[in-house]
Amino acid sequence: MLLAVLLLPLLPGAAETEPATPKFRRIFCWGYPADDAAAARYAQAGVTDIQVRTPEEAQLARKYGMTPYFSCFMAAGPHRQSMTPEEEEYTVYINGLDLAPGLPRAERMKIIHRRRIEKKHRYGGEMETKLDTLRCDIPCFISDEGLELSRHRVDELLKKAPPGVAGIYLDYIGYTNHRGCYCPKCLEKLRRHLAENHLADTPENRAGFYRDRLVEYYNAVIDYIKSRRPDFRIVVHLYPDFQPDPLFGNRVKADFCGQTVAWYFQWQPDKIERYTRHVVEHAKDHHPGSEGIPFIGVNTSRTGSLGFKTPETVERELRIILAAGGRTLMVCNGPAILEPGYFEIFKKYTAAR
Ligand SMILES: [Zn+2]
Repeated sequence: MLLAVLLLPLLPGAAETEPATPKFRRIFCWGYPADDAAAARYAQAGVTDIQVRTPEEAQLARKYGMTPYFSCFMAAGPHRQSMTPEEEEYTVYINGLDLAPGLPRAERMKIIHRRRIEKKHRYGGEMETKLDTLRCDIPCFISDEGLELSRHRVDELLKKAPPGVAGIYLDYIGYTNHRGCYCPKCLEKLRRHLAENHLADTPENRAGFYRDRLVEYYNAVIDYIKSRRPDFRIVVHLYPDFQPDPLFGNRVKADFCGQTVAWYFQWQPDKIERYTRHVVEHAKDHHPGSEGIPFIGVNTSRTGSLGFKTPETVERELRIILAAGGRTLMVCNGPAILEPGYFEIFKKYTAAR
């Protein structure tokens, strides 16, 4: 009897129940099924959940067995976020806002890319230097006024949502400088928060304040969407990165919370593994209904200043995510999935449907 138990894992039947290479069961894509061919190819690559802009795209997604979500809600507020003078100066520099307006576009972009490479600009992903900012402004959402404007934006979006969509994507909810907003109202709220809780004005306590405002905002927006559309599922990618605490997504009550485990700029394998484990294993710490989804950034173009990955690199990273327990995946840029060489890799690591 003992011998039989020991031999059991070697029997063919037992081996078949657990495939040698694990695969992704679900892929959330930041891309659109713009036409029949694109929709078919996304589905073949293993995409199960996708953004749509029109009733036609929603229909195409359904035709190929993918779940469509309306795209997309972004933070609203009464004015742009305020940063330190150094951060404002950096933003001007990496975005070429100081360049002569008459400069031809190609020339302007060349200078901008050179500056972004020089400064190690990370396009909203985890910083590799002490200072980095986004390419665009995000409104200051930390106020009742910001929330009112956000509710209005939700209402407008929901009116436009095509029939048959299963929910909505959320994006660009975060801080332009990865840390916080320093407008007078935010600084006053911070000061009051520290005083009321008898906290010293330290980087840690500031980070806690700004993280909690971010989570509060996410959850208020999600609650509001669900109050209007209880049937809607909410899909999030935490972006831009919140520098003091990048993996806070389990505090957000999204149905599907994408958190970056492999950014466009290549990360070390042990970091991808560590982040994946955290995203998957701690997804339900605060909200049992939430699912944590490892996010991978893929850019297939060598030009410009955004990180580039070969299909081999993408394959290596997918294998690390799978080995660390990831079974769902979120991918941006969506169209990268359709590119020859990359398409085959995604197809190889997704379960057949
Ligand atoms: Zn502010």
